[in-house]
Amino acid sequence: MTKKIAVLPGDGIGPEIVTEAVKVLECLNSQMALGIEFEHGLIGGAAYDEYGTPFPEQTLSLAKAADAVFLGAVGGPKWESLDISLRPEKGLLGLRSELQLFSNLRPAILYPQLVYASTLKPEVVSGLDIMIVRELTGGIYFGKPRGVRVLENGERQGFNTLVYSESEIRRIAHSALQIAQKRNRRLCSVDKANVLECTELWREIVTDTAKLYPDVQLSHMYVDNAAMQLVRAPKQFDVMVTSNMFGDILSDAAAMLTGSIGMLPSASLDANNKGMYEPIHGSAPDIAGKGIANPLATILSAAMMLRYTFNEIEAADRIEQAVNNALDANVRTADIYSEGMQKVSTSEMGDTVVAELKKGI
Ligand code: NAD
Repeated sequence: MTKKIAVLPGDGIGPEIVTEAVKVLECLNSQMALGIEFEHGLIGGAAYDEYGTPFPEQTLSLAKAADAVFLGAVGGPKWESLDISLRPEKGLLGLRSELQLFSNLRPAILYPQLVYASTLKPEVVSGLDIMIVRELTGGIYFGKPRGVRVLENGERQGFNTLVYSESEIRRIAHSALQIAQKRNRRLCSVDKANVLECTELWREIVTDTAKLYPDVQLSHMYVDNAAMQLVRAPKQFDVMVTSNMFGDILSDAAAMLTGSIGMLPSASLDANNKGMYEPIHGSAPDIAGKGIANPLATILSAAMMLRYTFNEIEAADRIEQAVNNALDANVRTADIYSEGMQKVSTSEMGDTVVAELKKGI
């Protein structure tokens, strides 16, 4: 069956890292006859430069017609002074909301070869393998009313609204519970139910939904404690589920436990597991065009795409194994380099992964 992938490289290092992931997918495609077809489009600053908008109609149609969207990153100083409605990030937010990608999966995995890269002690993080499931299309980032108003006394006041409907909470709870079923069957729901009514409802609905998954052990934690536990004893967690803003913050903290932002993939799924896949890092304008970006997060995002949208488990496993083998071969981009390793460029890292895939034939 044909698998149509909309490829949106975006800005900064986006095109460089996406090229490497496409190389890896093309290799697997010919090895395993996966039926993958690529179609390229523009998003973010690159789209603004071409069409005057970060989220052109063509890109939306391309993404809607595809089975999955594969994205590099958006943003950069060039577009920072634009009106907020025209900034590159609007393209990404627009895509997430148009495709109803409400479930954001962010694994934080520490590869044993990179244990030195973490700022935490090896015994605290070695073997770390957490999945954070973040609600992505609701909550305070989208809630209305929002804005900045002028009060009677002339002072300005900023305001946003934290809002979740029952159905929004229930669908993210299902998503997280199903992911927990495929892992170690433990789910920790993170909220601030002692202060925020909205998250009190969150806790109630997650608890209710979990009754349908008796094989999953559900626990609850306040977000402040969760932040503390993530740096104190992160291995206690298997899957965590939380709201948009809490997830934004906690998943970045979890990512940094691994010490290497260039290693971490992500998936954003709709109710039918159609998804958008991208590395968790941004467009890294400071290193764009230098050929030194780490493409592994993007390559691992391709593995997530094969696993979650296309159910091609063997193909996904092969990519992950090839990445592991590349690390075993002591090949490193600058961000994960340490003495005694072989420092390679973005494309050399991609080539190494492809070579490892070919060895596996
Ligand atoms: P960033 O993730 O782009 O970069 C942070 C640091 O990590 C930089 O020093 C960068 O060089 C390094 N880095 C990131 N990815 C790397 C890789 N693959 N290999 C090696 N080093 C890597 O975050 P930032 O600097 O805060 O943001 C830069 C731009 O990216 C901004 O415009 C921001 O809005 C945007 N951004 C986009 C996304 C996205 O597209 N999903 C996410 C975050 C930030």
